[in-house]
Amino acid sequence: MAFPFSAIAIEECRLSDTPTQDSPLPDALRISAPAPLIDIGANLTHDSFAADLDATLERARQANVAALIVTGADRDGSLRAHELSERHDGLYATAGLHPHHAADWDPAMETTMRELHQQPRVVAVGECGLDFHRDFSSRADQQRAFEAQLALAAESGLPLFLHEREAGERMLEILREWRDHLSDAVVHCFTGERDTLYGYLDLDLHIGQTGWLSDERRGHHLREFVRDIPSERLMVETDCPYLLPRNLPAKIKGRRHEPALLPWIVKELAHWRGESETEVAQSTTRTARRFFRLEGTGE
Ligand SMILES: [Zn+2]
Repeated sequence: MAFPFSAIAIEECRLSDTPTQDSPLPDALRISAPAPLIDIGANLTHDSFAADLDATLERARQANVAALIVTGADRDGSLRAHELSERHDGLYATAGLHPHHAADWDPAMETTMRELHQQPRVVAVGECGLDFHRDFSSRADQQRAFEAQLALAAESGLPLFLHEREAGERMLEILREWRDHLSDAVVHCFTGERDTLYGYLDLDLHIGQTGWLSDERRGHHLREFVRDIPSERLMVETDCPYLLPRNLPAKIKGRRHEPALLPWIVKELAHWRGESETEVAQSTTRTARRFFRLEGTGE
């Protein structure tokens, strides 16, 4: 089946092949979603956005991206994400420690995170979780930092923004133990297999989808079951500047992904779910507003 869009992974979160800041999007890539969207995973504290953040946010608005959750993945990144959320309308933040940096978890980190979780613009604990694909931190450190952040989520009552790569089995074991103490959790950029997905859904978790499902090298398996995710459990995200969609109808110099491209992900997701883009836009936004408890947005 021909479909004009396919996505790549420039390499997952916070890794090599760092995208660089570049000029505005080519006209061919400027489409607007048929209903307002919420990008639940935008790494806007990445250096590549430092020079043109205002213009990036304006392009997102033009694309009908109404709100963005800025991902906090380490101490400084979480502090900066919070700063951005206070400075710009429509921006919210998460605060947490990514498993790649899990070895950095210590009492001072815990204090910083606990304080951030009390700020009104910080809407989730994370990005946290397990990454056995890269193992940049030892698995023992990853589990220790993860459980410490689960405890913070239980304490604050905030939902969790979870990262999991090739660690579904262990993640499910840990979450089963903690589930009764947690309000809500989303497995962002879910890339796993069907059984893992069903395990997460059985725990009443939410699922975030990026352009990964159209990556012809490693995302095709998702096409077979992405329609199994109930609408009220599904949200969308760019994970920008990473995971630039691959076969967009124009090239982007610098290969930087940005929130204005979220409508392309909705288009792809709608195709494989057998829904209209409007349906996907409306349901994912409704779900994100409820999940992150965004104020004054109604339905
Ligand atoms: Zn991630």
